[in-house]
Amino acid sequence: MAAINIIETKWRWNGSLSTRAHTDYIALHHAEASTCTAEQVDRWHKENGWTGIGYHFFVRKDGSIYRGRPLTAMGAHVSGMNNRSIGICAEGKYSTETMPDAQKRAICRLLVYLKDNYYPNAKIVGHKEIGDSDCPGRNYPLEDIKQNYRAYGADEEGLSVTQYEELKDEINGLKPMIYDYMDENMPEWAKPTIQKLMDKGVLVGDEDGRLGLTMDMLRIFVANDRAGLYD
Ligand SMILES: [Zn+2]
Repeated sequence: MAAINIIETKWRWNGSLSTRAHTDYIALHHAEASTCTAEQVDRWHKENGWTGIGYHFFVRKDGSIYRGRPLTAMGAHVSGMNNRSIGICAEGKYSTETMPDAQKRAICRLLVYLKDNYYPNAKIVGHKEIGDSDCPGRNYPLEDIKQNYRAYGADEEGLSVTQYEELKDEINGLKPMIYDYMDENMPEWAKPTIQKLMDKGVLVGDEDGRLGLTMDMLRIFVANDRAGLYD
């Protein structure tokens, strides 16, 4: 499916990050290393004296997507353009290697997600187009991704990440009803039992006072009550 799964890491920043003023570009990079992790990139960038990983996203060859800097923070990935761009880095050395399909699709899903949800007007570019660099390497499928990211970013049914997320929300709307309070939603047959358990302090809500009970839980409590377990 085209769901987007962004792996969150608790980065330890060396200092504070500043907020980015504009988002005119989404810049594509390669790590220039055949195998590396987001943690390694973070270490390398700290060795440069930077606050930490300079990219906003790091995509591994297997298609897993890691968050680097927060979306609204200024990155450190294109000298002179960091206040106007987001950086996505691909694991790999695309001056010589060929990008695996899983990684290409993950980058495209991420682009659809960013364009549809946050920055519809941001232009997708290679690092070399806005900075003095060979990055992301001559073998990086830059033109292919720029032209076809929507097609690669869709799932087998042709759903884009955004459509998929909307569909998922709809499906989630069918989740079982949750009974939180002793209000009109609470079935009459369950009220005496739930009230009894609340009075006894056996059932306590969360910090907002919500009980979070499902229909199955109501049934079990009432059955136990009728069996005399709460007397
Ligand atoms: Zn680059």
